[in-house]
Amino acid sequence: MMKLKIFAKLTLVGSLLLNSCASVPVKSSTQNYCSGYECVVPDDVFDAYEKIKNFYFGASAVCICKRFSTGLTKKERKKLANQLTELGYREQIDLLNPFTTNGMIVYPESLTRSKKFNKIKKHENVHRIMCDMSEEELRYLCEAQERMIRTYIGDEPLVKEVDNCFGVCKVSSLNCDEFYAYLLDGTLNKQEIMDYMKENFPTAYQIVKKIEQLSPSSP
Ligand SMILES: [Zn+2]
Repeated sequence: MMKLKIFAKLTLVGSLLLNSCASVPVKSSTQNYCSGYECVVPDDVFDAYEKIKNFYFGASAVCICKRFSTGLTKKERKKLANQLTELGYREQIDLLNPFTTNGMIVYPESLTRSKKFNKIKKHENVHRIMCDMSEEELRYLCEAQERMIRTYIGDEPLVKEVDNCFGVCKVSSLNCDEFYAYLLDGTLNKQEIMDYMKENFPTAYQIVKKIEQLSPSSP
Protein backbone atom coordinates (compact mmCIF):
# COMPACT_ATOMS: atom_id res chain seq x y z
CA MET A 1 0.00 0.00 0.00
CA MET A 2 2.79 2.32 1.03
CA LYS A 3 4.66 1.55 -2.18
CA LEU A 4 1.62 2.30 -4.30
CA LYS A 5 1.21 5.69 -2.69
CA ILE A 6 4.83 6.63 -3.33
CA PHE A 7 4.60 5.46 -6.92
CA ALA A 8 1.47 7.56 -7.47
CA LYS A 9 3.30 10.60 -6.09
CA LEU A 10 6.33 10.06 -8.29
CA THR A 11 4.16 9.69 -11.37
CA LEU A 12 2.45 12.93 -10.57
CA VAL A 13 5.75 14.77 -10.14
CA GLY A 14 7.01 13.17 -13.37
CA SER A 15 4.02 14.32 -15.35
CA LEU A 16 4.26 17.83 -13.90
CA LEU A 17 7.90 17.98 -14.97
CA LEU A 18 7.06 16.75 -18.44
CA ASN A 19 4.32 19.34 -18.79
CA SER A 20 6.59 22.18 -17.79
CA CYS A 21 9.33 21.18 -20.27
CA ALA A 22 9.50 22.18 -23.90
CA SER A 23 9.44 19.38 -26.45
CA VAL A 24 13.26 19.52 -26.82
CA PRO A 25 14.81 16.92 -24.52
CA VAL A 26 16.85 18.67 -21.87
CA LYS A 27 19.39 16.76 -19.86
CA SER A 28 20.55 18.06 -16.54
CA SER A 29 24.09 17.44 -15.40
CA THR A 30 22.99 15.71 -12.21
CA GLN A 31 25.01 12.68 -13.30
CA ASN A 32 28.10 14.84 -13.15
CA TYR A 33 29.83 15.05 -9.80
CA CYS A 34 33.29 16.06 -8.75
CA SER A 35 35.20 15.57 -5.57
CA GLY A 36 38.61 17.19 -5.27
CA TYR A 37 40.59 16.25 -8.34
CA GLU A 38 38.20 13.57 -9.66
CA CYS A 39 35.04 14.07 -11.74
CA VAL A 40 32.39 11.70 -13.08
CA VAL A 41 30.53 12.71 -16.24
CA PRO A 42 27.75 11.00 -18.21
CA ASP A 43 28.98 8.42 -20.72
CA ASP A 44 27.80 10.35 -23.79
CA VAL A 45 29.75 13.40 -22.62
CA PHE A 46 32.91 11.35 -22.17
CA ASP A 47 32.42 9.73 -25.61
CA ALA A 48 32.05 13.16 -27.21
CA TYR A 49 35.29 14.33 -25.53
CA GLU A 50 37.10 11.18 -26.67
CA LYS A 51 35.95 11.66 -30.27
CA ILE A 52 37.22 15.23 -30.30
CA LYS A 53 40.65 14.20 -28.95
CA ASN A 54 40.70 11.24 -31.32
CA PHE A 55 42.69 8.96 -28.99
CA TYR A 56 44.12 6.14 -31.04
CA PHE A 57 43.67 3.43 -28.43
CA GLY A 58 40.54 4.78 -26.82
CA ALA A 59 40.53 5.74 -23.16
CA SER A 60 38.69 4.27 -20.18
CA ALA A 61 39.22 7.49 -18.21
CA VAL A 62 41.51 10.46 -18.57
CA CYS A 63 43.88 12.57 -16.52
CA ILE A 64 43.95 16.13 -17.85
CA CYS A 65 47.58 17.17 -18.06
CA LYS A 66 49.42 19.73 -20.19
CA ARG A 67 52.33 17.37 -20.67
CA PHE A 68 50.03 14.66 -22.10
CA SER A 69 47.99 17.14 -24.23
CA THR A 70 44.79 15.60 -22.86
CA GLY A 71 43.11 18.89 -21.96
CA LEU A 72 40.81 20.59 -24.45
CA THR A 73 42.08 23.63 -26.33
CA LYS A 74 39.74 26.63 -26.63
CA LYS A 75 38.64 25.45 -30.05
CA GLU A 76 38.05 21.88 -28.84
CA ARG A 77 36.10 23.14 -25.82
CA LYS A 78 33.82 25.06 -28.18
CA LYS A 79 33.38 21.90 -30.25
CA LEU A 80 32.44 19.89 -27.16
CA ALA A 81 30.00 22.60 -26.07
CA ASN A 82 28.27 22.36 -29.48
CA GLN A 83 28.05 18.59 -29.18
CA LEU A 84 26.63 18.84 -25.66
CA THR A 85 23.92 21.11 -27.04
CA GLU A 86 23.17 18.50 -29.70
CA LEU A 87 23.00 15.84 -26.99
CA GLY A 88 20.48 17.96 -25.08
CA TYR A 89 22.60 19.34 -22.22
CA ARG A 90 21.59 22.83 -21.26
CA GLU A 91 23.77 23.15 -18.15
CA GLN A 92 27.22 22.75 -19.65
CA ILE A 93 29.79 24.56 -17.57
CA ASP A 94 30.23 21.76 -14.97
CA LEU A 95 30.62 19.25 -17.78
CA LEU A 96 33.14 21.30 -19.75
CA ASN A 97 35.37 22.59 -16.95
CA PRO A 98 36.81 19.23 -15.87
CA PHE A 99 38.21 18.71 -19.38
CA THR A 100 40.23 21.93 -19.20
CA THR A 101 41.42 21.66 -15.60
CA ASN A 102 45.03 20.57 -15.23
CA GLY A 103 45.44 17.60 -12.87
CA MET A 104 41.76 16.59 -13.07
CA ILE A 105 40.81 12.93 -13.56
CA VAL A 106 37.58 12.41 -15.51
CA TYR A 107 35.65 9.11 -15.48
CA PRO A 108 32.63 8.13 -17.56
CA GLU A 109 29.72 7.30 -15.25
CA SER A 110 29.38 3.61 -16.20
CA LEU A 111 33.05 2.97 -15.36
CA THR A 112 32.41 3.76 -11.69
CA ARG A 113 30.10 0.72 -11.56
CA SER A 114 32.60 -1.58 -13.29
CA LYS A 115 34.87 -4.12 -11.63
CA LYS A 116 37.86 -2.42 -13.28
CA PHE A 117 37.16 0.91 -11.59
CA ASN A 118 39.62 0.68 -8.68
CA LYS A 119 42.42 -0.41 -10.95
CA ILE A 120 41.76 2.42 -13.41
CA LYS A 121 41.44 4.90 -10.53
CA LYS A 122 44.89 3.86 -9.33
CA HIS A 123 46.30 4.07 -12.87
CA GLU A 124 44.93 7.57 -13.50
CA ASN A 125 46.09 8.78 -10.10
CA VAL A 126 49.64 7.72 -10.95
CA HIS A 127 49.32 9.87 -14.09
CA ARG A 128 48.01 12.75 -11.98
CA ILE A 129 50.91 12.61 -9.55
CA MET A 130 53.50 12.24 -12.33
CA CYS A 131 51.87 15.15 -14.17
CA ASP A 132 52.75 17.33 -11.20
CA MET A 133 56.28 16.06 -10.69
CA SER A 134 59.47 18.10 -10.93
CA GLU A 135 61.61 17.61 -14.03
CA GLU A 136 64.37 16.22 -11.85
CA GLU A 137 62.15 13.51 -10.35
CA LEU A 138 60.78 12.64 -13.78
CA ARG A 139 64.29 12.34 -15.15
CA TYR A 140 65.21 9.81 -12.44
CA LEU A 141 62.10 7.78 -13.20
CA CYS A 142 62.42 7.86 -16.97
CA GLU A 143 66.14 7.07 -17.00
CA ALA A 144 65.52 4.10 -14.71
CA GLN A 145 62.69 2.90 -16.95
CA GLU A 146 64.79 3.22 -20.13
CA ARG A 147 67.72 1.38 -18.59
CA MET A 148 65.49 -1.35 -17.19
CA ILE A 149 63.94 -1.90 -20.61
CA ARG A 150 67.40 -2.15 -22.19
CA THR A 151 69.14 -4.32 -19.63
CA TYR A 152 66.60 -6.15 -17.54
CA ILE A 153 63.16 -6.29 -19.09
CA GLY A 154 63.90 -6.26 -22.82
CA ASP A 155 61.00 -7.71 -24.74
CA GLU A 156 60.15 -10.15 -21.97
CA PRO A 157 56.63 -9.36 -20.89
CA LEU A 158 56.83 -8.97 -17.12
CA VAL A 159 53.18 -8.48 -17.46
CA LYS A 160 49.88 -10.12 -16.74
CA GLU A 161 47.92 -8.03 -19.21
CA VAL A 162 47.87 -4.51 -20.58
CA ASP A 163 44.47 -3.20 -21.67
CA ASN A 164 43.75 -0.52 -24.27
CA CYS A 165 46.33 -1.90 -26.60
CA PHE A 166 44.46 -4.12 -29.05
CA GLY A 167 45.55 -7.19 -27.13
CA VAL A 168 48.70 -7.20 -25.09
CA CYS A 169 51.31 -4.44 -25.22
CA LYS A 170 54.95 -5.22 -24.87
CA VAL A 171 56.39 -3.58 -21.77
CA SER A 172 59.15 -2.17 -23.97
CA SER A 173 56.58 -0.24 -26.00
CA LEU A 174 55.18 1.63 -22.99
CA ASN A 175 56.37 5.19 -22.50
CA CYS A 176 57.70 6.32 -19.14
CA ASP A 177 54.35 7.56 -17.78
CA GLU A 178 52.44 4.45 -18.86
CA PHE A 179 55.17 2.16 -17.54
CA TYR A 180 54.81 3.47 -13.97
CA ALA A 181 51.00 3.68 -14.19
CA TYR A 182 50.83 0.01 -15.25
CA LEU A 183 53.46 -0.91 -12.66
CA LEU A 184 51.49 0.57 -9.75
CA ASP A 185 48.02 -0.47 -10.95
CA GLY A 186 49.26 -4.06 -10.73
CA THR A 187 49.30 -4.88 -14.46
CA LEU A 188 53.06 -5.39 -14.50
CA ASN A 189 54.83 -7.72 -12.16
CA LYS A 190 55.17 -5.11 -9.44
CA GLN A 191 57.04 -7.00 -6.76
CA GLU A 192 59.77 -8.22 -9.08
CA ILE A 193 60.30 -4.85 -10.74
CA MET A 194 60.25 -2.96 -7.44
CA ASP A 195 62.84 -5.34 -5.95
CA TYR A 196 65.06 -4.76 -8.98
CA MET A 197 64.63 -0.99 -8.71
CA LYS A 198 65.42 -0.96 -5.00
CA GLU A 199 68.71 -2.70 -5.74
CA ASN A 200 69.71 -0.87 -8.93
CA PHE A 201 67.89 2.49 -8.99
CA PRO A 202 67.40 3.49 -5.34
CA THR A 203 66.46 7.14 -6.04
CA ALA A 204 63.85 6.20 -8.65
CA TYR A 205 62.62 3.47 -6.27
CA GLN A 206 62.04 6.05 -3.51
CA ILE A 207 60.10 8.26 -5.94
CA VAL A 208 57.90 5.32 -7.00
CA LYS A 209 57.25 4.52 -3.32
CA LYS A 210 56.18 8.13 -2.82
CA ILE A 211 53.78 7.95 -5.80
CA GLU A 212 52.36 4.73 -4.38
CA GLN A 213 51.68 6.36 -1.01
CA LEU A 214 50.10 9.45 -2.58
CA SER A 215 47.72 7.46 -4.82
CA PRO A 216 44.67 5.55 -3.56
CA SER A 217 45.33 2.04 -2.21
CA SER A 218 46.15 -0.67 -4.72
CA PRO A 219 43.35 -2.82 -6.08
ZN1 LIG B 1 47.61 5.43 -18.82
